[in-house]
Amino acid sequence: MKLSHVRLLAIGCSARAWHRSAPLPNSAAFSCGGGIRFSWRGNRYSTSMSRGRRRPTAVGTGLDTELQGSQQDEVQNRDGEGKLKIIYDEVFLKHRPPPGHPHPECPARVSTARSELDRLEGIEWATPSSLQSEKGRERTLAAIERVHNPEYLEEVLRVCAKGGGAADFDTYICPDTFEVCIAASSAWMDAVESAAGGSPAFALARPPGHHATAGVGMGFCLVCFAAVAAFHALDALGCGRVAILDFDVHHGNGVAALVKGDARIRYCSIHQGGIFPGSGGAEDSGPLGNLKHLQFFGVDETWETYEPRFEEAVEWLAEFMPDLVLVSAGYDALEADELATASLQPKDYGRMGKRLKEVFGSKVAFGLEGGYNLQVTPVAIRATVEPFLCAGA
Ligand SMILES: [Zn+2]
Repeated sequence: MKLSHVRLLAIGCSARAWHRSAPLPNSAAFSCGGGIRFSWRGNRYSTSMSRGRRRPTAVGTGLDTELQGSQQDEVQNRDGEGKLKIIYDEVFLKHRPPPGHPHPECPARVSTARSELDRLEGIEWATPSSLQSEKGRERTLAAIERVHNPEYLEEVLRVCAKGGGAADFDTYICPDTFEVCIAASSAWMDAVESAAGGSPAFALARPPGHHATAGVGMGFCLVCFAAVAAFHALDALGCGRVAILDFDVHHGNGVAALVKGDARIRYCSIHQGGIFPGSGGAEDSGPLGNLKHLQFFGVDETWETYEPRFEEAVEWLAEFMPDLVLVSAGYDALEADELATASLQPKDYGRMGKRLKEVFGSKVAFGLEGGYNLQVTPVAIRATVEPFLCAGA
């Protein structure tokens, strides 16, 4: 077994670091042998390409919000369209840190958000399609393989089969981790499928994904869901251009690495510089110029200083005229979050959600990345989605 795909990393996590009492056990678990074999499909898109393929109606991007509104009303007046969909399942609670090793990336991140969102009316709750049919599972596996090296995925499976371990010093793997990642991938894919059809969606899934590269799990991430979903939109849903906005406080190095070679995608990240993963400098626009990195370094980044960066990101993505916008929605730029030093408030995420709705209409899909404060993150998620609870719901 080649281990080059699962390099162990030892990079500090953040400026205001999360301190564990002890390293995760079996942190070199990828060296284990044996385990189960996973049969990757050679005919990778035989299912997804023939099912549900459609050309989405062009979304009125740019900053013409008046036109946007009329297009949106038209969409929302159609039966069932325009309603906010949230994809969630209790399977997301099964990815758990080892007993005795409390970890900020924990199941309560999504269960508390689920409880908060349950208070809203007008939401369509859905379970990931991979849990509903074998077809759904197969197309999800194919989409994951589109992004990640088979050798790497087999290693993750191997660690799951032996009872768990870790990809790096703070990225744990438990027996159910791979199954959770399949369901989470499906949730993100379902979200873009919903958004491409005119209904905004939020994948309330975990773990986060934006640090995972093709062959390396790191920073709590094992599968890069944003990349999986973006390529699914392009290759299986007929989208011509996909914009990704990443407002997690950390740079989405995995997403950037995976999409920088494809001009059909624009990726913009707003993140704190000088913390994990240490990449995402302003000078890095990628070989095709389809990356934009907006960094801040102040320890007290508030909406006053954040808003101009957010507007720059929105304008850059809007001029791309994307068929849909995928948001890597991380909530660790909240003041209450201990993994970074930004000072955003839940209402600021409401401002971002409102602006995204104004500019991109209903063709917006969110997927949960970071955000580790169990009291404030759910409130911020709720603030993000409330602007998408539309009259058509
Ligand atoms: Zn983060």
